Amino acid sequence: MQEINSLRVAAVSKEVLEELLDLNVSVSQTPHFVHYFSGGKLWHGSIPLAHRYGGHQFGVWAGQLGDGRAHLLGEYTNRNGERWELQLKGSGKTPYSRSGDGRAVLRSSVREFLCSEAMHFLGVPTSRAASIIVSEEPIWRDQFYNGNVKKERGAIVLRLAKSWFRIGSLEILSKAGELDLLRKLLDFVIEEHFPSVKSSDPDKYLVFYSKVVAETAQLISQWMSVGFVHGVCNTDNFSLLSVTIDYGPFGFMESYNPNFVPNTSDDEGRYSIGNQADVGLFNLEKLGEALWPVLSPEQQTLAMQLLKEYPRIYHERFHELFKSKLGLLGSQESDGYLIAFLLKLMEDTGADFTMTFRHLSEISARQLQDLAIPQEMWALQDLSAHQFFSEWVSLYLKRLNRQGEDSDAERRNRMKGVNPRYVLRNWMAESAIRKAEKDDFSEVQQLQEVLRRPFQEQEKAEGAEYAARPPRWADSLRVSCSS
Ligand code: AMP
Ligand code: MG
Ligand code: MG
Repeated sequence: MQEINSLRVAAVSKEVLEELLDLNVSVSQTPHFVHYFSGGKLWHGSIPLAHRYGGHQFGVWAGQLGDGRAHLLGEYTNRNGERWELQLKGSGKTPYSRSGDGRAVLRSSVREFLCSEAMHFLGVPTSRAASIIVSEEPIWRDQFYNGNVKKERGAIVLRLAKSWFRIGSLEILSKAGELDLLRKLLDFVIEEHFPSVKSSDPDKYLVFYSKVVAETAQLISQWMSVGFVHGVCNTDNFSLLSVTIDYGPFGFMESYNPNFVPNTSDDEGRYSIGNQADVGLFNLEKLGEALWPVLSPEQQTLAMQLLKEYPRIYHERFHELFKSKLGLLGSQESDGYLIAFLLKLMEDTGADFTMTFRHLSEISARQLQDLAIPQEMWALQDLSAHQFFSEWVSLYLKRLNRQGEDSDAERRNRMKGVNPRYVLRNWMAESAIRKAEKDDFSEVQQLQEVLRRPFQEQEKAEGAEYAARPPRWADSLRVSCSS
């Protein structure tokens, strides 16, 4: 436990405090807040736990891992009847810390705090973050595993999810042959979080599996639709509820590149953006293996068949999401081609993922038709350098014209509602972190504020150039697993 006067509230999420925890945001000004939200004091009835899990890391079974620096404080049922599990991350050692110190550095905590909330407002299922509290206590880290150990500041994030159980939570029990506990945990998760699965159903584990398969496919298609790369898609970082958890060396793809890897420690690009769908399948296979001992031979065969549905579900969802990113209504045979054609142009020109779709949402059909791309639409300018750009535009306009009554203003509005103007780019996080290291949290708060409304053009954000071409200094930014 740390000295209270060495702790400071860097930022809080108003929505999480007010809507999820029934607290008025003004409580964050009180010393009580620092106490309770840093783990210095426990809520009445709270029995902090660390959870044991295992996982496949970078494709290999890594054995027992567990919450090494997260404490589960308990669950809270809010006035809407929603139950949230509260966890402190960076709150110190647990029985599963192994050689770690149980702490989290400021930079990674700011990134988790900002990104999990930003993802929520992008409409992607995710854990949430209530607060980030910064500590003076020094933490030692070798940020790039190059022997260069540096003193860093630590922080504690209070994060929430409906459940923190992961694929690795089941894997560890299955691998260890603790089958009674495996059944007990499965029954608990199903009972609590999968109300449509009947506990009396003899196929309940199979039905549960089919739901996780479908929802994981859905989640990864949503990541792809906003250009999000998780960075460390190990089975211990994959939620059984298919929400995004454990933000580490994640990134938003800027220049379109299927091989984009945000994590410098991922030499082989296992978790590149273009591999995420396949890695999801791998992880679901591992979930299937974990369930194996509690399935009958017939159910095992069915589980394998269920998994075969994954690519279809993923591609269907991906297709729908990208159709709506292009403002397409209804469905036409050539839609897949139109999407793939655009992505190929983006890949060839290295156009910015987020802003290409945003600019397409902002440009009028007339301007497109005339190939009169305004100077400030820089991503579209980049794209238009492609020799087949005009060909794509004419296919696109033809498709839009077949949408009947739909006006161009309606199309643009619809597209602006799904194509964000602001995402948490690395340079934006880095700039806010550099200030936060010096006790200036204004930029963390500003980013948080802007990212609450990613689809709406905002003066403050424009002033900070959040929708502009990323600055040159950002080219050299790297993130690693060290956090
Ligand atoms: P991650 O890559 O962050 O998902 O972490 C993998 C495993 O290492 C998890 O079991 C973490 O709880 C654990 N871990 C990561 N960092 C630390 C740390 N500083 N102290 C103790 N355990 C850690
Ligand atoms: Mg629960
Ligand atoms: Mg993790």
